[in-house]
Amino acid sequence: MTAQAQTVLVVEDESSIASFVALYLKNAGYSVRTAATGNEALAQAQSERPDLIVLDLMLPDVDGIEVCRRIRKDSDVPILMLTARDEDVDKIIGLEVGADDYMTKPFNPRELVARVRAILRRATTEREKGESAVLVHGDLTVDAGRREARVGEEEIQLAPKEFDLLWELLDHRGLVLTRDQLLER
Ligand code: CA
Repeated sequence: MTAQAQTVLVVEDESSIASFVALYLKNAGYSVRTAATGNEALAQAQSERPDLIVLDLMLPDVDGIEVCRRIRKDSDVPILMLTARDEDVDKIIGLEVGADDYMTKPFNPRELVARVRAILRRATTEREKGESAVLVHGDLTVDAGRREARVGEEEIQLAPKEFDLLWELLDHRGLVLTRDQLLER
């Protein structure tokens, strides 16, 4: 396993399914953590910052939909939902709880690994796009992709270190907007 192995959190109370899924993911090169309850999943999502979460819908305490909703409040970690019933799919999709994909049980573990891989690839591409993000504060606009800072229409000349500092300062104000979001507004 490489040092950069991506971490997948598997949330499933049925230990046979959890260990089976974990085994396949480990064999595919992922670092795997498991949680058997919704509360444990929420705690691990916070503390471990996994790269992806495989989340079963039916859990003994907080159900998967609620777990997904709570995680979405402060994280855009990709989530693959597992469900035992077809009718739940409507809920997952219809309520737009923020899951990235879902699979209906019983599923082929190879298919699950393929989905995990696809979702992570997509997430990485989006993160790379996000690196050309734009920060705005009042009249000040900072474009990380072009490394440009401007006040209104006027460009400010900054040394690379100054630029990085400015970016960090704005970034920590929680004012990150992608170019698309800016255009939208
Ligand atoms: Ca379950």
